[in-house]
Amino acid sequence: MLDRDRCLALDAADPLREFRDEFVLPEGTVYLVGNSLGALPRRTAERVRRAVEDEWGRELVGGWNAAGWYTQPLTLGDRLAPLIGAGPGQVVVGNSTSIAIHQAVAAASRLRPERRVIVSDVRNFPTDHYMVQGLAGLLGGYEVRDVAEGRFDDAAVVLLAEVDYRTGARQDVPSVTERVQAAGALMVWDLCHSVGAMEVDVSRADFAVGCTYKYLSGGPGAPAFLYVNPRHHAAAENVLSGWHGHAEPFAFEPVYRPAEGIRRFAVGTPHVLSLAALEAALDVWERVPMDLVRAKSMALTSLFIDLVGDALKLAAPADAAARGSQVSFHHPDGYPVMRALIERGVHGDFRAPDLLRFGFAPLYIGYADVYDAALTLLEVLDKELWRDERHARRLAVT
Ligand SMILES: *Cc1c(COP(=O)(O)O)cnc(C)c1O
Repeated sequence: MLDRDRCLALDAADPLREFRDEFVLPEGTVYLVGNSLGALPRRTAERVRRAVEDEWGRELVGGWNAAGWYTQPLTLGDRLAPLIGAGPGQVVVGNSTSIAIHQAVAAASRLRPERRVIVSDVRNFPTDHYMVQGLAGLLGGYEVRDVAEGRFDDAAVVLLAEVDYRTGARQDVPSVTERVQAAGALMVWDLCHSVGAMEVDVSRADFAVGCTYKYLSGGPGAPAFLYVNPRHHAAAENVLSGWHGHAEPFAFEPVYRPAEGIRRFAVGTPHVLSLAALEAALDVWERVPMDLVRAKSMALTSLFIDLVGDALKLAAPADAAARGSQVSFHHPDGYPVMRALIERGVHGDFRAPDLLRFGFAPLYIGYADVYDAALTLLEVLDKELWRDERHARRLAVT
């Protein structure tokens, strides 16, 4: 078993250690929630100040041209593309993941008009499945089928997450994509829990969506991204036919005419201030070797699992290659356990009904952090520190 000195030595030899200084982390906190809201990059405050004071303050409405606000959804999409194995002109940034799911699944359904089945995963993050239900209702006559039924042969589209938000289990993207497409369906991947945590390759997928506020540290409410495989650019329709996806938004024509290429998937006015924060985060990501991120992520999650041992029942896959960058454990009193842990400076989160969830963002979490977090968790369990009644009171956001 590793001791703390050995963890400190691993941190000193870590090829990613320089990135820790890129992030603002409060003293005395081990932040294992980077899979929900990534930590603040140090450079973000200055970039947002510039967007507010220099661009908005000085340029006023001229910022749309002078500061590049108008093209930001595409320029930032191009900068994000390498993180998901996509090329330039294939990714647009904006809206939320929920909205991007609606766009992707609707466009995919329309590309397979003779089929009336949308396959989704009831265990997926609820918004994915909710958006599919709403869309099926809007389209009328569609069946929403759970992926557990394992039948794609009459499906128009299959929507799945690469990494399960609860257990951290990771799908085999190439083989699932191949199976779905061989059955004649289109594949939509949700990358919310994989982008920024590992190398991602969407090049075979039909569509992909994801958020930028988790591992990517784009900031609270940072816009989502939508990838559309170039083979669909000519035929795929954006059912959210807003003016920014029009061929000539400033012609102010009465009839919608879609733009060529990925720009047709833009909807309305971009969230300029949020995009400024995302841009600062991408300045960091452009220098990050993702193979090293994945290697460190697997080492951190394995270390945490080893240290916790059999004190808790593991909900994540035991094999590191089959996991994302998070570890979950079952505990019948998971909520008060997590509150007691947070009070002691170790931040994870709780997911109903009984999961303790810990995310490991390799750019700012080190081996000694993992050691300290595991020992604190073991102490909370051993001494039953979670039994104090103040830990049982539920907050709105868990
Ligand atoms: C975090 C997450 C979302 C978030 O959707 P929003 O519309 O950005 O709130 C959606 N799907 C999955 C799988 C997620 O993990």
